[in-house]
Amino acid sequence: MFNSSRCQDVVVGQWTCSLMVYTTLIYLYVVDGLLIDTGPKRLQRQSSMFFLRNSINQVALSHLHEDHSGMAAWLEHNLQIPIYLHEMAIPEAKERGKYRLYRQLMWGNRPAFTPQPFPEVLTTGKYTFDVIDSPGHTEHHKVFHEKNQGWLFTGDIYVAPKQLVAMYDENMKDTIVSLQKLLRLDFDTVFCAHNGVIENGKAALQKKLDYMLDLQGKVEGLRRQGLTDREIDHKLFPKIPLIAKVSGGEWSSYNIVKTL
Ligand SMILES: [Zn+2]
Repeated sequence: MFNSSRCQDVVVGQWTCSLMVYTTLIYLYVVDGLLIDTGPKRLQRQSSMFFLRNSINQVALSHLHEDHSGMAAWLEHNLQIPIYLHEMAIPEAKERGKYRLYRQLMWGNRPAFTPQPFPEVLTTGKYTFDVIDSPGHTEHHKVFHEKNQGWLFTGDIYVAPKQLVAMYDENMKDTIVSLQKLLRLDFDTVFCAHNGVIENGKAALQKKLDYMLDLQGKVEGLRRQGLTDREIDHKLFPKIPLIAKVSGGEWSSYNIVKTL
């Protein structure tokens, strides 16, 4: 499924990606020629048409996960435009991504590409974006802030107000610090890679921070009572979500508990 719409000067592309009964939404944004994240390789047929229709002249990647960078190689080969990525993730980007089968089926493999480190600010003809470090979801994650418009492009740092599972390499303590840092910025509208355009985005990010801090308080309290992180996980998250089963444990609620 594909949908294209517009929020002020931002062109929004929306797709669904499914694996069995598990479905994820993908949102891509084009602002004055700047594409923010590329979507996965699996959506090439649909997303390449979207790219060609929207005169893209530069690409900013929030992070290297294959659902955000899977089409970077296509853009590099077909449009010969600069692709920016967190400096520390560049060596990994130059190698083809290797993933478990469920990720290959869900997103497709990410081909190798050659990104450039971000400049301090990204400029288009009309807009200026501050490029802000925001580790947590991954260590090397960036968000893009257009302060004159009150826009914040959040990659995967928000996604949902309540997080029930995390990937094996996520760090929730870092997510808390990143959310606190972002909430000090001036913005209203959040552009999320999986949840779309969120008006009153500051309240949304605050809700997620409050949830994480509350959860952290519960985890610390149970640790003081002598429970192990495994026991705390069973107590706070008694239901095992589908993605935890499909991913063979790469995604789990334990990954949240252990890093809080
Ligand atoms: Zn991600």
